[in-house]
Amino acid sequence: MRTDTPVAVKLKDYVPYPFSIDAVELSFDLGAQKTTVRARLSVTPKGTGPMRLDGEALHLNYIALAEGGGKAAPLDPADFEVDARGLTLLAPPGGPFVLETEVEISPAANTALSGLYLSGGRLCTQCEAEGFRRITYYPDRPDVMSSFRVRMEGPKAAFPILLSNGTPGEAGDLPGGRHFAEWVDPHKKPAYLFALCAGDYDVLRDTFTTMSGRRVDLGIHVDKGDAPRAAWAMDALKRSMRWDEEVYGREYDLGVFNIVAVRDFNFGAMENKGLNIFNSAYVLADEDTATDFDFEAIESIVAHEYFHNWTGNRITCRDWFQLCLKEGLTVFRDQNFSADMRSRPVQRIKDVIKLRARQFAEDAGPLAHSVRPDTYGAIDNLYTATVYEKGSELIGILRRLIGPEKYREGMDLYFERHDGQAVTIEDFYACFEAVTGRDFSAFRQWYAQAGTPEVTLDETWDAETATLKVRLRQNTAPTQGQPVKKPVPVPLLSALLDGEGGHVAASGRKAEPFLVVLEGAEAELEFRLPEGSRRPLFSVNRDFSAPVRLVRKLTRDERLALVRAETDPFNTWDGLQTLVKEEILALSDGSQAKPDDALVGAIAGAVKGALGDPAFAALLTRLPEVGELFLERQPADPVALAAARAKLQAALGKALAETIGETLAKPAPAPYHPGAEQASVRALRNAFIALLGASSEPEAEATLSRLYDSAPNMTERLSTLRALMFTKGGGKAKAIGHFEQMWKSNPLVMDKWFSVQASTGTAEDVKRLIAHPDFDLRNPNRVRAVIGAFAMQNLAAFHAPDGSGYRAVEATILAADKANPALGARLMTAFEQWRVLEPKARGEAEACLKRLVEAGLSENAMDIASRALAAPG
Ligand SMILES: [Zn+2]
Repeated sequence: MRTDTPVAVKLKDYVPYPFSIDAVELSFDLGAQKTTVRARLSVTPKGTGPMRLDGEALHLNYIALAEGGGKAAPLDPADFEVDARGLTLLAPPGGPFVLETEVEISPAANTALSGLYLSGGRLCTQCEAEGFRRITYYPDRPDVMSSFRVRMEGPKAAFPILLSNGTPGEAGDLPGGRHFAEWVDPHKKPAYLFALCAGDYDVLRDTFTTMSGRRVDLGIHVDKGDAPRAAWAMDALKRSMRWDEEVYGREYDLGVFNIVAVRDFNFGAMENKGLNIFNSAYVLADEDTATDFDFEAIESIVAHEYFHNWTGNRITCRDWFQLCLKEGLTVFRDQNFSADMRSRPVQRIKDVIKLRARQFAEDAGPLAHSVRPDTYGAIDNLYTATVYEKGSELIGILRRLIGPEKYREGMDLYFERHDGQAVTIEDFYACFEAVTGRDFSAFRQWYAQAGTPEVTLDETWDAETATLKVRLRQNTAPTQGQPVKKPVPVPLLSALLDGEGGHVAASGRKAEPFLVVLEGAEAELEFRLPEGSRRPLFSVNRDFSAPVRLVRKLTRDERLALVRAETDPFNTWDGLQTLVKEEILALSDGSQAKPDDALVGAIAGAVKGALGDPAFAALLTRLPEVGELFLERQPADPVALAAARAKLQAALGKALAETIGETLAKPAPAPYHPGAEQASVRALRNAFIALLGASSEPEAEATLSRLYDSAPNMTERLSTLRALMFTKGGGKAKAIGHFEQMWKSNPLVMDKWFSVQASTGTAEDVKRLIAHPDFDLRNPNRVRAVIGAFAMQNLAAFHAPDGSGYRAVEATILAADKANPALGARLMTAFEQWRVLEPKARGEAEACLKRLVEAGLSENAMDIASRALAAPG
């Protein structure tokens, strides 16, 4: 265990690798305790000097070199050096040569889940970002692309199915109950896309015919008995393949596409070429064991990984600073896929909720970094909401600025120009400059600058001249290491509203929405209306066209009038969210004793008016989470905010009591289908069930217990269980016991059971969950279900002023980090907002962070802790 902070890697230090790896042949002798890996690299030097290969936790058996087609001769120990991070050939030949190595690794001892490891008795790999160096000595960087040929052999009983990238080649039996299989990937790829899986699986098979009529064999590999539960993932895969053809003109390029579900996995899923590896939580679903939320996540993650085949695999990143090039772009693609499969406005609202909760919070704290950073410590810590979600927003801005046709033209050019290459953000934007003739250098400031821009809007109305003047100013607060910020181009989709559901024409514009682009620090807009006109209402940042914080001083009545006049569903929802935020803040600081009846009535009215679109109505009942409110006013008091939020939620439940009763009295849609239409109806049922949980009425608890007992699917079972957590009677304990009895043999469902309690309970509850026999430190899903849910969703308990929340989990964070640094670092991000807390919690958080550092953290976790603790500025 290293306890020093990692050495910073800098974008400006980039130099191309001085060797090309023309071909890679890998040969695996597979075993759980010991796997032997022989590698044969065909190398062409591009210059002179030593050759550095990355390697970690490898035992080198053999190293040899061959020149001019001759036989490989073992290297003299004086010709190379091995250290903890790799191997250096001190004086490699000046012409083409072949390097052969043989190493031993131990998959069973690999608890970091990076490289080749064992999960549920099967072997699998995770190589992004730097896992391949834990398999063999190799230049483990994305700009080294090569063609891979893989041979695996091992005991047939333990590993009857052997998979790797590309298409299958020769296979057959060997003496002693062993067998082998070869796989060849014709597409050059960086090592981070390498994958291998070996084990006994059930396979769900299907086929897909591409737009040019080629047949692709699809296979989803799961635990024995689970194949029927992969049907939705298969359906989502085929829809994704079709969508990428129709919307981006992209066809799949191999005859085989495999997915393997793995129980112990650090991430959601991984886009390895032709062999995607998934966290089993994002493959397996049926109505009894998965919620609508799970089905939706599966659909979007399957799409995301599939879309990477073009945006990430065929065209990859030159270096990890360009991570947003593949991630931001691919998130943008999967969000649009989901919008096309479901409801576009509802999808937009959900994407913005996630962006604000995670990315805005990141931007406002010590971990703030730009979408394309120019330095990083631990690479695993760069897989952030900023790179993914803000990265996606920037592609959305680009598309809005140039329009859908030019966007598609630019994407076509990008695929044509850079296929088979490892490129940069500059290369990507050069394609859009080529098709539009525009200069995007100012736009790229969005990629260079951390922090969320704040746009302030002031307006004045001159009744005499019927002129509305709107003044816009932008400002981005300083972030760590970036004290001075420049303006960025902010596209604001706007409209003038007449207050009766219509639009107003002004200054020669048509009566329809228009795009305003705030280019500099400020701008003034003038809208001249026909003489004698009434004052129009200004609708701005419609569809959340720019990822900014909008500051607009309006009274409650003015905001309500604007919400009523809105013609943009996002702004209708967001206008109410703003009112609700202001209300919770007023209730939390004591400036208001109880929720305002008029406001509660207005929200209830909006919900009732939207019942025809139940998914949208459900979103209207949503109250911002405590963490989102940290951004609104500081210092933040999580305990007071949570209490205020609960008060408002109870009032809303009361105002909607009749509608809730009528809705929940109807039977849930049957037979179950996970598609948008039914999911929308269930979303509203879930929202109402949550409101019942917030009520303190005994009848509400009785209704919840009844709904829990008769729940026809996991969606309703889990939403009622969650709502019962907030009640005081005996129904809660009964449901917890029943759920555990029912599902104790299904780990994915038990993750939900742990998570529901950790995200709603006390520090004592979390201690009890950690002590539960099924709590498993080696399984990231389980650790996240307990520690992650508590620290990131239950902020009033985690940030308790007496420090009890921190003390309940710190030993477990340390232990998790020791086994699995990527997981440890992810848990440490729970402290990213500690500086904005009220003084007591803040002091306890700082003390806890210091104790963790003192106890010894992994390099990954130390990277987070040291940035969190660094003095601001
Ligand atoms: Zn991705």
